[in-house]
Amino acid sequence: MITLKEALSLSKEELNKFKKELQTKIEENKSLNAYIDVMNVGDGVPIAIKDNIQVKDWSVTSGSKILQGYIAPYNATVIEKLKSSGLSPFGRTNMDEFAMGSTTESSYYGKTQNPVNAEHVPGGSSGGSAAAVGAGLAIAALGSDTGGSIRQPAAYCGIVGMKPTYGRVSRYGLGAYASSLDQIGPMTQNVEDAAILYDIISGSDTKDSTNAMMDDKVVPNLNATRKLKIAVLPKYIENASQDIKDAYAKAIEALESAGHTIIEKEMMDAKYDISAYYITATAEATTNLARYDGIRYGNRVDGKNLEETYINTRSEGFGDEVKRRILLGNFVLSSGYYEAYYVKAQKTRHIIKEEYAKIFNDVDLILSPVAPSVAPKFGELANPMQMYLSDIYTISVNLAGLPALSLPVMKNKDGLPVGLQLIAKPYDEQTLFDGSLSLEKGVNYGVF
Ligand code: GLN
Repeated sequence: MITLKEALSLSKEELNKFKKELQTKIEENKSLNAYIDVMNVGDGVPIAIKDNIQVKDWSVTSGSKILQGYIAPYNATVIEKLKSSGLSPFGRTNMDEFAMGSTTESSYYGKTQNPVNAEHVPGGSSGGSAAAVGAGLAIAALGSDTGGSIRQPAAYCGIVGMKPTYGRVSRYGLGAYASSLDQIGPMTQNVEDAAILYDIISGSDTKDSTNAMMDDKVVPNLNATRKLKIAVLPKYIENASQDIKDAYAKAIEALESAGHTIIEKEMMDAKYDISAYYITATAEATTNLARYDGIRYGNRVDGKNLEETYINTRSEGFGDEVKRRILLGNFVLSSGYYEAYYVKAQKTRHIIKEEYAKIFNDVDLILSPVAPSVAPKFGELANPMQMYLSDIYTISVNLAGLPALSLPVMKNKDGLPVGLQLIAKPYDEQTLFDGSLSLEKGVNYGVF
């Protein structure tokens, strides 16, 4: 597959020919179920779009039955930004319903396969975007990351996935899951492409009140030869699988031989991250999903009166995982429990932020696993609690609002990709990309 950088220099004729071939290839690989549907619009370089980002006049459903029939009335800011840089949205990709999940198994459209091995999940919730890029069915894609949904599927499918600092990329036109955690980001074949796409979609936007209103670009200054201080977390990775530990050792070796300084640090027990995240995310989700009442958006199941219409619509429109989270979110916000759960989670979130800040007093980047293992097989994470626990290495980054990039480091003995992430200080995407480029060169995972 050509890279984004290469695609940006193609002529209109070459691009149109490429798009036709791409469409045929997608058709031939239908069983992967990476795309929900494919629309060829505009003349630009085609970018696959997760089904929770609005493209004007396209159906947009967040992988849910409740939004069947809903047509986006406007473009998300990231789509406007793609268009003004010569790129165009090309197909919407499969995802866990309302981005809740780690396997893409909760989509209304059925599961997506991992392109490396069809018995394994592609990860989630941006599993369709990751599978499309991993299978050579997209040059690059957009995903969204609330607690790892860009980085984890990227790691499972052997591609690069980047979550920007909270506020760097406008959330205008993104279907909200947990508004204080969500960020849109690039999913690409390599680090340089991620930097190119990040530059295109990031920047100020008055339509998003949480936008950082910063317009600096990383690509002009990309520099893989900077010598950085990088923290490693020996205790933190103790519970990861041997594959992850092997990849971690390989990455440390590569970073050391590239001249970076490795410094050992510790993080508090990640079990607190899980509690703080699942309380915060479900509380926000319950509020965000209240708008799907059958009146304003998408699907409606009529009842005898208004209340029954609400109940029927929501009972039939939402899947089990979404319902579970609505219940959990209402519980932690209800009077009597609010102080005990929600307020405590916010205090924990603050401690996590401070813990990162303390480490970043001494280092430029942190090297961390993305997931505790390689991509599991379908059905292996059927127990919700087990699935939530598999998020331990990604969610603290969202709770602290930090930028992080997941990249493939090695393949295990079964050929499954193992990804690791680098984490940077808030707004220091430059160092994140510089360090990631250096690591990518050092580990030499191979090209597509
Ligand atoms: N797996 C996490 C969750 O289910 C993260 C999902 C995401 O980042 N959207 O909440």
